[in-house]
Amino acid sequence: MIKINQNYLKLQTSYLFAEIGKRVAAHQAAHPDQEIIKLGIGDVTRPLPDACIQAFHRAIDEMAHSSSFRGYGPEQGYDFLREKIAQTDFKDRGADIHADEIFVSDGAKCDTGNIQEIFSTDIRVAIPDPVYPVYVDTNVMAGRTGACHDGRYEQLVYLESTSENGFVPDLPDQPVDLIYLCYPNNPTGATITRKQLKTWVDYARENKALILYDTAYETFIRDADLPKTIYEIEGAKEVAIEFRSFSKTAGFTGIRCAFTAVPKECRAYTTEGERHSIHELWHRRHTTKFNSVSYPVQRATEAVYSPEGQTQIRSLTEYYLKNAALILEKTRAMGFECTGGLNSPYIWLDCKMDSWDFFDRLLNEAGVVCTPGEGFGNCGRGFIRISAFNNFENVKKAMDRMAAVLG
Ligand code: PLP
Repeated sequence: MIKINQNYLKLQTSYLFAEIGKRVAAHQAAHPDQEIIKLGIGDVTRPLPDACIQAFHRAIDEMAHSSSFRGYGPEQGYDFLREKIAQTDFKDRGADIHADEIFVSDGAKCDTGNIQEIFSTDIRVAIPDPVYPVYVDTNVMAGRTGACHDGRYEQLVYLESTSENGFVPDLPDQPVDLIYLCYPNNPTGATITRKQLKTWVDYARENKALILYDTAYETFIRDADLPKTIYEIEGAKEVAIEFRSFSKTAGFTGIRCAFTAVPKECRAYTTEGERHSIHELWHRRHTTKFNSVSYPVQRATEAVYSPEGQTQIRSLTEYYLKNAALILEKTRAMGFECTGGLNSPYIWLDCKMDSWDFFDRLLNEAGVVCTPGEGFGNCGRGFIRISAFNNFENVKKAMDRMAAVLG
């Protein structure tokens, strides 16, 4: 008899975006002439940087000739890309990460989801609340949790991010082994300082724990005082894995390219306390189950690191940051308390009421779609996430409509 992995039965229906879609469709059917502005889903809207397009074309042309054709590449990614990543994203920022510690992949979603596979199922996992849901669900699938009650799984340790702690959680009050952190944060848009990050690195070092640091929105950081990588923090190489993505950096959500940095010093232990290299385990997993990203995609990604590419991705993120600044200014002028919007494309707004009720009001009265915060965890109740991924004109119109209804 074929049996299922029963942990899957513990998963809660991921109804957030389906429910949003249903309510938007119902509203649209009732008001076919109203133009709806979507500031909900975190997907980019601007075209690819020209440097990437040119590199893509050149790589495709190479594939047309037997002299330059390429088949399978190295599973960890081509050296031409890994070297640029190591130099630009780490060494130039004083973080001593080498090309052979970079694993190129087709998404930070897959990497953050897959990495937990190399750890034991009896570890204690600490997860922020609110959170990017992939961290929770992949640990549920692996069997690291009990059942879910009122939005929370047994055995997970929830790190509450609230307005009181500035959406950077305090250290856990019970021992944990694996810690997920994400800054700039999805969904709150909050950032973490070097001092705060050092507290977590020190905790991990003292407790033989590991930090999974998701910094998919790193390119939106403009404040020089904020860390661009966890490896700026002394001692982090032993206790942290970092996830990056070109999705929001370069508009690659439909192209698919990301990478994970796993330093060779990074360690984990057997039940008997014997120390092992996480790099070796991940290398084994990645090269066994993954055949890397296509050659043209890696060439297009390499172009992100060219001088033109760097200028173009800066102006791309600048565009969304301008939207975010407008959302922040206008919603604050309406009297709301907000986080994010600076160094981040997300604004987390305290709506001081049920977040679905606020969502409905915004949709029905202003024709604007946001994301109810409770879809990201219990601490998201009473908040909504507004995304800056849209055209400036639409964002401006959405803010005017919101002000007319709520201001
Ligand atoms: N990590 C965070 C925090 C995200 O918000 C997202 C996408 O929304 C991802 C990872 C996924 O990135 P990718 O498109 O590289 O899979």
